[in-house]
Amino acid sequence: MAVSAPAPTRDIEWANSIIKRDEVEKYLDSRGHDFIDDEKIEAQIEDARNPDPRFIRDILDKSRAMQTLEPEETAALLQVEDPDLLEEMRATGLAIKLKAYDNRIVTFAPLYMSNHCINSCTYCGFRRENRDMVRVRLSMDEIREETRALAGDFGHKRLIVVYGEHPLSDIDYLEESINTVYDVRVPTKKGHANIRRVNVNAAPLDTASLRRLKNVGLGTFQVFQETYHHDTYKRHHGSKSLKSDYRWRLYAMHRAQDAEVDDVGLGALFGLYDWKFEVMGLLYHVRELEQTWRGIGAHTISFPRLEPAHNAPCSCAGSHAVSDADFLKLITVLRLSVPYTGMICTARESAAVRNEAVSRGITQMDASTRIGLGSYSTVYNEQEEERQQFMLGDPRSVDDLVADLADMGYITSFCTAGYRIGRTGERIMRLLRTCTEGNFCKLNAILTFREWLDDFASPETKEMGETLIRKEFAEAYSRTPKLHKKFTDYYERTANGARDLYV
Ligand code: SF4
Repeated sequence: MAVSAPAPTRDIEWANSIIKRDEVEKYLDSRGHDFIDDEKIEAQIEDARNPDPRFIRDILDKSRAMQTLEPEETAALLQVEDPDLLEEMRATGLAIKLKAYDNRIVTFAPLYMSNHCINSCTYCGFRRENRDMVRVRLSMDEIREETRALAGDFGHKRLIVVYGEHPLSDIDYLEESINTVYDVRVPTKKGHANIRRVNVNAAPLDTASLRRLKNVGLGTFQVFQETYHHDTYKRHHGSKSLKSDYRWRLYAMHRAQDAEVDDVGLGALFGLYDWKFEVMGLLYHVRELEQTWRGIGAHTISFPRLEPAHNAPCSCAGSHAVSDADFLKLITVLRLSVPYTGMICTARESAAVRNEAVSRGITQMDASTRIGLGSYSTVYNEQEEERQQFMLGDPRSVDDLVADLADMGYITSFCTAGYRIGRTGERIMRLLRTCTEGNFCKLNAILTFREWLDDFASPETKEMGETLIRKEFAEAYSRTPKLHKKFTDYYERTANGARDLYV
């Protein structure tokens, strides 16, 4: 539903009420500094040039032991240029991913709720100066329609819901929209479909608002820093917008932990500044969270690359453009630096790059992705510049993605059980670091894959999926014999139309 924006003075008043200084300052060090020291990071990257291969192999051993790396170690990985050593790093990263997450790739879809925004990010089509943007905030009826399409036509079980920063998408709207998504239930060929996990990508919130989101069943809370480099951040976010406050954003996840939201996702927008700096920034962020919150780091890391956006002055990366080769290298370095974390590669990237990213150890991919407001439930011909934040690179449907992944030996997981049975925070970190999380998740992946094949797959994809399931069944038995009786019972019930069973 198109809604006229409130008067700018009301926007300013609203913006002034958002930032709570005391919820930032308590985390600064004794000199009033935050944990990103630009000069130190630049020096660490410079000092790491021409790393000794023996040092790199020692680092790989540490990654295999599922330990978060030191900044000097990540800097050394970033400076490797030798093709054989790079291949060794890639293979080690993939082996770590398979050990921690097995051959599962979790799938999800983004759902854009509102593109009203009071900020002026130079790279975004939603920026307030973009007069061509058709401004939309979905009504609750429209959210129901979108959810019906996502769950009932495509078979999605997990969403990331996305909001611009604006009084029209304040905490009341966030709460109501999430509740609306969870309430939708759609009949399918053999059972029913619904969205079982709603992750949120929103502006930084204060602790009280985060508590409210936790109470309505928030999955992962994502806030991307965009760039960790202070001056670059200032240049792209101006001095007057709400988003210009670097530290309010930087400490968003500290506030999340304060609010007992212990499942958080970090990210940087690659292309705004030197990609090596951004990888170091992400590592420092993870280490800061681990040190402050009993070892609870980021559950996921995202690494979107800057894409063209309508009427955005800086949507071509220019001197900081990240080549495909560097993009794939940064995925490997992140995988090795934070071995336990989930890694999300979205449909911004082409299918070819995403398929290659699978061999670098990513864990999550979206599919059937549409980022125009209201475009899942309406006829959608082309990418519509005036309704979306940027242009997409991978148009594959869920059916296409499931088939492609099956061809590569990967099972697509629609599982959402983890957070619903308390596998978050310290618990999920322990399971991931000891590589035991996969014991449950593989079984749940098979159950949800069975559901999806029966309800949504094309005949060709179903056949490929059946072959994969037979193989997975045998492996699941050898890996978790004690759970096998319960699992086979659940599997048979699922095949007969029961839904949402998990171990
Ligand atoms: S990136 Fe986010 S905050 Fe910035 S203009 Fe776009 S929607 Fe608004």
